[in-house]
Amino acid sequence: MRDRPLLVIAALIAVGTFLVIQANSLPIGSERSMDGLIKTASLSVDEYGIDQSQYEVLDAVVANNETFSDLLTPYNVDYQRIVQLASEGRNIFDVRQLRARRPYRVYTDSAGVARLMVYEKDLTSYVVFDLSENPKIQLENKEVTNVIRDVSGVIDNSLYATLLDQNIHPAVAGRMSEVFAWQIDFYRIQKGDAFRIIFEEQLVGGEMVGVGEILAARFVHMNADYYGFFFHEGDIQEHYDESGKSLRKAFLMAPVDFSRISSGFSSNRFHPVQKRYKAHLGTDYAADRGTPIRATGDGVVIAATYGQYNGNYVKIKHNETYTTQYLHMSKIASGMRPGTRVRQGQTIGYVGATGLATGNHVCYRFWKNGQQVDHRREKMASSGPIPVQYMNDFEILRDTYMVQLATPIVPTPKSRFPMIDAHAAVAAP
Ligand SMILES: [Zn+2]
Repeated sequence: MRDRPLLVIAALIAVGTFLVIQANSLPIGSERSMDGLIKTASLSVDEYGIDQSQYEVLDAVVANNETFSDLLTPYNVDYQRIVQLASEGRNIFDVRQLRARRPYRVYTDSAGVARLMVYEKDLTSYVVFDLSENPKIQLENKEVTNVIRDVSGVIDNSLYATLLDQNIHPAVAGRMSEVFAWQIDFYRIQKGDAFRIIFEEQLVGGEMVGVGEILAARFVHMNADYYGFFFHEGDIQEHYDESGKSLRKAFLMAPVDFSRISSGFSSNRFHPVQKRYKAHLGTDYAADRGTPIRATGDGVVIAATYGQYNGNYVKIKHNETYTTQYLHMSKIASGMRPGTRVRQGQTIGYVGATGLATGNHVCYRFWKNGQQVDHRREKMASSGPIPVQYMNDFEILRDTYMVQLATPIVPTPKSRFPMIDAHAAVAAP
């Protein structure tokens, strides 16, 4: 068995390599000259809308530590003009943000003086530097087209690796973990789990640059089918399961009924015991001793123990994004131990004043992506089902996708792309 974290790292490295290769790939009809610059055959209007026939055109990539003026001084551009351009255009593009290995194109006149330069900021936008007497900088976006792809696969190691093997944009893995955040723990995916995903792929000039919406998906995890359908109508824009229930689940607003907030979340409050200002990274709900404390969302217990300051407490991991904690319990409910699965609303303990507490209350703490946040300021998804007036439309959409999703999923042979090919391309002269 190979180590899962290592595989994730390997996948991420492969993604990085892949992107670099895409950026460096030579256009058809071009060749690399001895000095490493790329000479492009003269077509009339290029992908930036510039008529190349008026210029000598040179393509290259930014080298390590190369500055904006380093790029232009070989082309006889007046240094004062470079400085002026960089300073006046700073709000549009700061030339100090040039990145190594990004491609650029220089357009020179017959005297070898650069008139224009285009820098590929990222896969979807580029910067045009006009080097004339009135120099200016313009930021332009490339045209992005969406194509719908229907992909499937059986997982061998990880979702990332399986997607990469099939030349599917790895961002799909992140999107899938968002869509099914409450249904599937993507860190527990097993060999043999399978997927069929219908999604929008974003292309620029035929190259994958990103992922739009996951339109419909079926994920087979431990032999159970999970479905997600993207539905957009009116102000609704959400993923639903096959029965029209939202896949996103909202948290309960409070872990106890019939309580009052005795102290809110604050990054700076006056501590009554310590007599100084101190952050309070939780919300205190005062309630009678013994009042049941409920899990505010489905999840898995990761701690149920006693601490000197926290008293008796329970900590629950809900998904990759959210974790909650409940402090000062008089008693932890029976059965709560690391690994216990809890449902939203399930009693996990009882209000008390154990640990550092002056009265009966539960201190409720809420983490989002590892940061403690005020849960009352979080925009929690509404977890309602499809509104009645849209149900018919939803069913039509679902049934159409269902036919596609029902196609058997078979393991696809590995394309060997991009890991092997990418390295070959880097090594080529
Ligand atoms: Zn507190």
